[in-house]
Amino acid sequence: MTPRHGALAVALSLALGAPTACAQPAPSPAPDVAPWMASLRPAVRAELSSPSSPVTVARLPVYDLALRYEPATRTYTLRETLSFTNTERAPMADVVLRLYGNATPAATVQGATPPIRVVRSACEGDGCTVRAAGASVLVARPRTPLAPGARLRIDVELSGTLTEIDSARTNILAQGMESLSSLGSEGAGDYGLLATGEGIASFANFFAVLARREGGRWARDDHGTNGDLGSDDLANWHAVIDAPASWTVASSGVTLGRTTAGDRARTEVGAVAVRDVAVVMGATLQTETRRVGEVEVRSVFLPGDREAGHRVLDAAAGALEVFERRFGPYPFTELDVVEAPLVGGAGGVEFSGLVTVASMFYHPPQMSGVMGGVANLLGVGDAITQQMGAMLPAMLEFVTAHEVAHQYWHGLVGSDSRVHPFVDESLAQWSAALYLEDRYGAERARRDADMNVRMNYQLMRQLGHDDGPVDRPASFYGPTVRYAGIVYGKGPYYYNALREAAGDAVFFRAMRRYVNAWRFRTAPPSGFVDALVAEHGAGAARYRGLAHRWLQESHGDDDLGRADMGAMLGSMMGGDAPSSEEMQRAMETLGPLLQQLTGGDGNGLFDPRTGGDPARRRNGANGGANRPSQGTGDPDMDRVIREMQGL
Ligand SMILES: [Zn+2]
Repeated sequence: MTPRHGALAVALSLALGAPTACAQPAPSPAPDVAPWMASLRPAVRAELSSPSSPVTVARLPVYDLALRYEPATRTYTLRETLSFTNTERAPMADVVLRLYGNATPAATVQGATPPIRVVRSACEGDGCTVRAAGASVLVARPRTPLAPGARLRIDVELSGTLTEIDSARTNILAQGMESLSSLGSEGAGDYGLLATGEGIASFANFFAVLARREGGRWARDDHGTNGDLGSDDLANWHAVIDAPASWTVASSGVTLGRTTAGDRARTEVGAVAVRDVAVVMGATLQTETRRVGEVEVRSVFLPGDREAGHRVLDAAAGALEVFERRFGPYPFTELDVVEAPLVGGAGGVEFSGLVTVASMFYHPPQMSGVMGGVANLLGVGDAITQQMGAMLPAMLEFVTAHEVAHQYWHGLVGSDSRVHPFVDESLAQWSAALYLEDRYGAERARRDADMNVRMNYQLMRQLGHDDGPVDRPASFYGPTVRYAGIVYGKGPYYYNALREAAGDAVFFRAMRRYVNAWRFRTAPPSGFVDALVAEHGAGAARYRGLAHRWLQESHGDDDLGRADMGAMLGSMMGGDAPSSEEMQRAMETLGPLLQQLTGGDGNGLFDPRTGGDPARRRNGANGGANRPSQGTGDPDMDRVIREMQGL
């Protein structure tokens, strides 16, 4: 089918006054994205409308959604239209969509009902078919391959039920314990992206998106579940969200309109040049906003978490100011930072124009369940709760800054989050520390980076895992603790090494050059060091040598130093504050407990955003977490460990 023939056929059939059976319709007109351009700052609007720009709005795929949510049943229905243009040089035999909500470990376990059901699917054009190829894959195949420049419209109707997350789980201590005790158990691995908890409904990975392109092919397989599942490519997005009228709705993009009918309201939102989007809504969610230049920063939180919600707003606005000064302007007019019931090791999740931060960082720590029992048995419950409460604000601030940094690393400057996850994750970690340095000084930045960055590496080493190169696919690392240790723990220090070698002036000019070279495109793993060499050619050998050392070799113990468990827990649970006798006892007892429980494996207990790898846990291939305990030498402790391993 060619568009011109289709148009002629339609014109002819209209002229004849009767439709002809074989008439090929012209593709429906692509939605008008002009009103959605309000989501971009004026300079970016001009940039992405210019024909000389490598990326223009008109060529991006367009997702148009109608989402309806019923809180009483936790069910949603969704009508989706995707308008896709083949921008490659070769014709495409098919167009593959992914339902990443159906690709999580929890959804792919044998016998599980996938959270998203495909009610109906169709594509435009005579003979075009859409078929499911697995729970998370839809393949649209036009009768003749889609020619370069040609457009295909795909319609999908979906329904689903949000998972309910128990409010007892969204506490830092419950999540810490869950991370440890889930090592030997089955079925973890859902981060609460498509779930509801404490009255917050989170919609992420909830509609069908174009599969990633890998070497000219559509990726149907995710090669493991470490890290972010989701799309990497730019798109335009529009949604009409039908929810109870009294509810607060937050989303990527900007609100274009709102209409109320009875007890329901429809909120229309639009966004341009986004990579991943989310909608978060709730009956009691509160909002606080602050202006940073042209950008409206909004913190959305539960009424009981007002103080933390205010701190999040302050951190997000502060981080945005630092990043705009250091890296250049943020592209959108709005930035939402939203509390969400994240579990399973995720501290926050990034989307374009919206990031979520886990409720566990907003709530005061509370001892409960087995963790509470064990801690009270050891007489350290109160001490741990108090120390954790004292640490929580700094953790919340770091996670917030990390997620805001993702607006640059992976949002503005794209990267392949499956094959080269360090490109955005290591840089987001490093950027969070840079925010602390610029705002509070080098000493605070170093201390918080020790807790939120370096500790990932040292914990990994303490638990007996080998160091490794930083630039490897997410699937290379195996257990989450190793992925977190190397990509989140060690990788950020690569940028410190380059900064030290280049000096601040050259280094930060290179950072700007890197952003300008790759904005709205996909940066290669060498992108930053290339920018540094372009900025200062005389240092090329040194910079490339450092890149090789950090990205391809293993010198973590030399570069980061080794830590012992006692010192690490001491730092985590009190920084340089004087340790009470009680804390000393907690460290002495919890250190070996942790080591025994994890038996050479662990989880991203301390890192702001790690993907779990429950598939490996299910298979018992987690590097020895199920090994019989060799014992701590203390019979009481050994009994506690056996009980916890039996969970
Ligand atoms: Zn991240």
